[in-house]
Amino acid sequence: MTSVLRLKCMKCGTEYDPGESRYVCPKCGNDGILEVLYDYDRIRRNFTRRTLQNDPEFSMWRYLALLPVERRPTSLTLQIGWTPLYASQRVGPALGLDHVWFKDDGRNPTASLKDRASAIAIAKAAELGEHVLTAATTGNAGSSLAGLAANAGVEAYIFAPASAPAGKIAQLRVFGSHLFLVDGNYDQAFDLCMEATEQFGWYNRNTAFNPYMVEGKKTVALEIAEQLAFEAPDKVIVPVGDGCIISGAAKGFRDLLAIGLIDHMPELIAVQAEGCAPIAEAVISGKPITYLEDPTSCADSIVAGIPRNHLMAVRDIRASAGLAVTVSDDEIIDAIGFLGRNEGIFAEPAAAASVAALRKLADSGDLHKDDRTVVLITGNGLKDVQNALKVNGTAMTIPPRIDAVERAIAEGF
Ligand SMILES: *Cc1c(COP(=O)(O)O)cnc(C)c1O
Ligand SMILES: [Zn+2]
Repeated sequence: MTSVLRLKCMKCGTEYDPGESRYVCPKCGNDGILEVLYDYDRIRRNFTRRTLQNDPEFSMWRYLALLPVERRPTSLTLQIGWTPLYASQRVGPALGLDHVWFKDDGRNPTASLKDRASAIAIAKAAELGEHVLTAATTGNAGSSLAGLAANAGVEAYIFAPASAPAGKIAQLRVFGSHLFLVDGNYDQAFDLCMEATEQFGWYNRNTAFNPYMVEGKKTVALEIAEQLAFEAPDKVIVPVGDGCIISGAAKGFRDLLAIGLIDHMPELIAVQAEGCAPIAEAVISGKPITYLEDPTSCADSIVAGIPRNHLMAVRDIRASAGLAVTVSDDEIIDAIGFLGRNEGIFAEPAAAASVAALRKLADSGDLHKDDRTVVLITGNGLKDVQNALKVNGTAMTIPPRIDAVERAIAEGF
């Protein structure tokens, strides 16, 4: 038995039994995102520092007691989660910051944080006896679901914009999902996926619409806290598209506060791209969100003009006393190189947006020397080499002769 008590609508507050509503609140429609409420007294009794110390499971399933599923699906054998948290070696010092960590979620099986949510989708589908799943994606949610579905032996129908980076499309092809490349943007692919779900009755993994995806994503916060010996960081920087990862982080830290494993809530810092910043603008202005019809950025994973989880994300950023910041595409490309050359960590553009924000906030004085700051690296750079190749100009080509090497070195190469 899980420790889930109820599902509560974000908008109208109506509570449902977990078996009663599979997706959003029936009264509020797609804005009625459901939040999963737990019996923390029950969790506290059998999930402690001591049980964790004795747990040999180093993956997201380590936190099963805090998850909305009965068990790890036996068919899903890929290792998801327990990604490294690296103390910064040169980026922090270069910015005058003493305590910076990078949580490298590009180390997940399909190379993005999305695997944490897809794993829950696979587990939920198995519990419900569903064998066909679907998702709309900018690239990572889909390649993640496709990979995990292939591992677990279930089917997946994926809707991705045809403009998605080649690396992500390659993953989708390799993992053998039914792939629809939609001649349109992510927001349109999302709406189409919703219509198709209704028509064909597939199990839907769509972010926000499926209330359990945030629960998977929250495991990144659980890991960060445990990797820091339950001294919660002061600040966590999160790239934001639909707003599910940031709400997942908030939920993870809230869970740990509720069961007494940490003693303060980190401030959540949301990063968006200048060409697609509806959530950041809502946080900064205090006004309701304005959707974007034609969002653009090189950071494809955070290009969501209609952020599906905006209500929860804005609420969570505010409640954490956090803030929002926007970064330009040039700053993002630059940050890919800055992180790569100083730490040996390769981030895709959306993930490097976190690093661009770190830099910006260090310069503006919003981050202090003593702040304990975790930067989420949400996806690996090999997913999008086209943008990575813009870093550091063009590579040198030489004839296969030693004098060419000598000359280059003499010229200060
Ligand atoms: C999905 C994704 C994000 C944004 O997550 P949201 O839940 O949409 O806010 C950020 N970075 C990467 C690499 C992603 O795949
Ligand atoms: Zn409702």
